[in-house]
Amino acid sequence: MTDRIDTDILVIGGGLAGLALTARLAAGGLDVTCVEAGPAPSPDSAGQDQRTTAILMPGIDTLTHAGAWETIAPDAQPLHGMKIVDCGGKDTTPRDEAMFDAAETGGEAFGWNVQNGLARLALARHIEAQHKARLIAETRIDHWIARQDAVLATLSNGTRVTARLLVGADGRGSVVRGKSGIGLRKWGYAQKALAARVEHSRPHDGVSIEMHHVGGPLTFAPLPGGRSGLVWMNRDAEADRLAALDDDAFLEELNRRSHGVYGEITAAAPRALWPATTQVATGLTATRTALVAEAAHAFPPIGAQGFNLSLRDVEALATLCAEADDPGAEATLTAYSRRRMPDILARTAGVDLLNRSVRSDLRPVRDLRRAGLSILGRTPPLRRLAMKIGMGR
Ligand SMILES: Cc1cc2nc3c(=O)[nH]c(=O)nc-3n(C[C@H](O)[C@H](O)[C@H](O)COP(=O)(O)OP(=O)(O)OC[C@H]3O[C@@H](n4cnc5c(N)ncnc54)[C@H](O)[C@@H]3O)c2cc1C
Repeated sequence: MTDRIDTDILVIGGGLAGLALTARLAAGGLDVTCVEAGPAPSPDSAGQDQRTTAILMPGIDTLTHAGAWETIAPDAQPLHGMKIVDCGGKDTTPRDEAMFDAAETGGEAFGWNVQNGLARLALARHIEAQHKARLIAETRIDHWIARQDAVLATLSNGTRVTARLLVGADGRGSVVRGKSGIGLRKWGYAQKALAARVEHSRPHDGVSIEMHHVGGPLTFAPLPGGRSGLVWMNRDAEADRLAALDDDAFLEELNRRSHGVYGEITAAAPRALWPATTQVATGLTATRTALVAEAAHAFPPIGAQGFNLSLRDVEALATLCAEADDPGAEATLTAYSRRRMPDILARTAGVDLLNRSVRSDLRPVRDLRRAGLSILGRTPPLRRLAMKIGMGR
């Protein structure tokens, strides 16, 4: 291991966002060092993360600019359609539905759905093949000084790094955010998301299904091989109960609540729980420092918005850094903040409102939501507008 690295950009965090940013910055000609606390992605560990991520078309463009999409694509399933089903009545039976077809937006697919572990593995392999980018795994940033001209950092393996810009892509509990003095607003919903990969008897035909139940949505996102990624949001006590059931009892509950939308669900294991919270940083930058992705913003997993918002951070920061003489200069960081903050605040508020309305057990709210869905389902121009907003175009 070299004990000194001189790099343009030091990215802390090798989750999906940190790896995508590293690849995208390197494609813009910058030298990038990504430091990840956990082990490097490997074929053995790729299946451990139960999350799948629907990456919508603008995000695919970013991964294409990064040169990494062709390594991810073979593991991804195109999303040809999305169905929203209202199940907010007295019992849980479907009352109304709206179908959104990608063909209506003029494309073949809204995007692609992929297992997080496989996407991280593909990104790490892509980075490994680059001359100007490197991933240092099982290493943390210990301490750093952000001076006017450079960031001087020491890593937990003893390596000293000099960089022109430090980027926090280190997730919800971001050390970069905290130690840079950037504040955080955070609130919860007493809900958790249960994630698992499921097998079912009917083909998904590339259509995702989001069933709006009281307590939270039940979503299936199609995967290659006829399987789907499940995200089932519930109030805390119900989510804990479902997670603790044995496999047969869990499948029985899941089949009861999914009303045969994909026929019989035959396997769903293992399961993982994710607390549903919203948090947003009070700023995106400090001296020679920028935040991206969940280090800057996070919200409940509904409507496939989280990582797609993060990819817009990646695209904006990488574009500005490639154009600038100095990627860490104040002017570059001010431009980044101006470009990203309005979108982050609007999307966070939108997902917060959507989550509150979907989980509500108040009759007028449920009936209003059903009426809105029914109008959307029957009004093509409104449907097209909703698809455009959902995709972040
Ligand atoms: C159930 C579920 C389903 C979802 N589905 C979708 C979807 O369909 N579409 C969508 O757009 N989004 C979705 N999301 C959101 C998406 O999964 C996340 O936004 C994304 O995975 C988070 O990526 P990240 O890189 O920002 O954070 P993380 O994955 O948290 O990565 C942060 C990384 O930083 C590392 N780290 C932390 N501290 C340090 C340190 N000091 N030094 C070095 N490394 C450090 C950590 O080890 C970690 O690897 C979903 C989320 C959930 C929970």
